[in-house]
Amino acid sequence: MDTAELLLSLQELDLQIARASERAQNPPELAALEKAVRARKRVESLMGPIKGQRKDLEMALADLDEDRKRLESAIEEVKARSESGPMDYRSQESIREQYSNLAKRLEKVEFTSESTMVALVEIEGREAKANVALERAGQAVDAIAKRARATVGEARSEVSKLREERRRLAEGLDGDALLAYERAMERFDGLAVEELRGKSPSICRVSLQPGVIAELEREAPITECPYCKRILVIGRGG
Ligand SMILES: [Zn+2]
Repeated sequence: MDTAELLLSLQELDLQIARASERAQNPPELAALEKAVRARKRVESLMGPIKGQRKDLEMALADLDEDRKRLESAIEEVKARSESGPMDYRSQESIREQYSNLAKRLEKVEFTSESTMVALVEIEGREAKANVALERAGQAVDAIAKRARATVGEARSEVSKLREERRRLAEGLDGDALLAYERAMERFDGLAVEELRGKSPSICRVSLQPGVIAELEREAPITECPYCKRILVIGRGG
């Protein structure tokens, strides 16, 4: 390779290195990963209230069960008293009233228990669904994270492979040419070398006068672009 070819190849490698480094630092999966993490957090945030509601309903149901047992034994007690022997009318009336009161309260407790049970079954269903959603969201996060890590790993090994290639290529350039290239790279932010194609350099694309082109051709194969001051390669497939 002559110096012009080496410079163009070096620039191509440097562009590839820059792209691979960018991929290693900023894998394209990152946006999807952040989105998946946000989605998982949203599902997670639903879990707390659902669990809270379920526990409240379980406690209410346990309390109602206690009430039911208390009322049932109170009813048993009243029944036992009514069967304990003959009693006057007032006592009979009082027992009937107590019995009717207790029975009404028991009915109310049973009714509330049923509706609480329905609500509990419903919330348990929602909790099960949320658990499935949470598991899926977690799997999505894991899968995207795995892909992102693979991308970063591949990009890193590509960078080190390209750097090695660049090192070998740079050895073929003389010190002055390499220094000029490095300086131009810094000055022009990664695009240091352009080629004259027809009437125009390939990067700044300014249209040059025939006289200027003739002058540049005398300086071939490497000169400086009169317009943008990049390193200009002349006479390669122009
Ligand atoms: Zn130029």
